[in-house]
Amino acid sequence: MFDQLWVWVGIFFIFGSIWGSFANVAIVRIPQGLSVVAPRSRCNGCKTPIRWFDNIPILSWFILKGKCRSCGQSFSIRYPLVELLTGVLFALAFYSVGWKFYLAELLIFILGLVIVSFIDIDHFIIPDKISLPGIIIGLVGATLNPEREVLDAIMGVVLGGGFLWMIAYVYYILRKQEGMGGGDIKLLAWMGAVCGWRAIPFIILFASIVGSGVGLFNMKKKGLQTVIPFGPYLALSALIYIFAGHTITMWYLKIFFPWLE
Ligand SMILES: [Zn+2]
Repeated sequence: MFDQLWVWVGIFFIFGSIWGSFANVAIVRIPQGLSVVAPRSRCNGCKTPIRWFDNIPILSWFILKGKCRSCGQSFSIRYPLVELLTGVLFALAFYSVGWKFYLAELLIFILGLVIVSFIDIDHFIIPDKISLPGIIIGLVGATLNPEREVLDAIMGVVLGGGFLWMIAYVYYILRKQEGMGGGDIKLLAWMGAVCGWRAIPFIILFASIVGSGVGLFNMKKKGLQTVIPFGPYLALSALIYIFAGHTITMWYLKIFFPWLE
């Protein structure tokens, strides 16, 4: 039987890849303080505006073999990858949430996470311009969404923001230098607003394990004072919490606390 569910999953994938194309623009322009809507995308080399038929998410990059049609300047493989990633995440969001209010909240959250993660990778910053409205949208969503508790979201903001702030403060006292960026603190507060306070320990734990693993690997190559962007690990962990948090928690409880049913 041909299942309607998969048609919608496909539609959300396409919808997501179009927003991924917007994310590419935002990743480049927001750190420069430029508008994300105007002017239209141009080639960095010859400044020719990119025509609509050369701007099809994912596909155009491959059709043009990653080069500008006018001057041959190459475009990074990251553009189609960001579009693919956003498409996959939108499809996954629809698949796991379905037609609920939370789907709209989740799509906004995913788009924001994709944008801040790549900005953090490029510039080691998480712009307040995205995380602060994110916190507000998350709290408004919790108020409007009958399936969510406002108090849960507020506690998420306090725990997410407060916990990292405390670690950053202690680190500052001990080492007399900033270890964790203020951007990460606001990002985690935003995650608390959207995912609720229960998500925070999971996100921090998971991000620390993956982040310190990658950090150690990099240290060997570059020496001890390497700064790694923590935002992408927090984003990855928040998404894993949303899509598989329940399964992983059950699994964990079964292994370590088998007497609890
Ligand atoms: Zn060009």
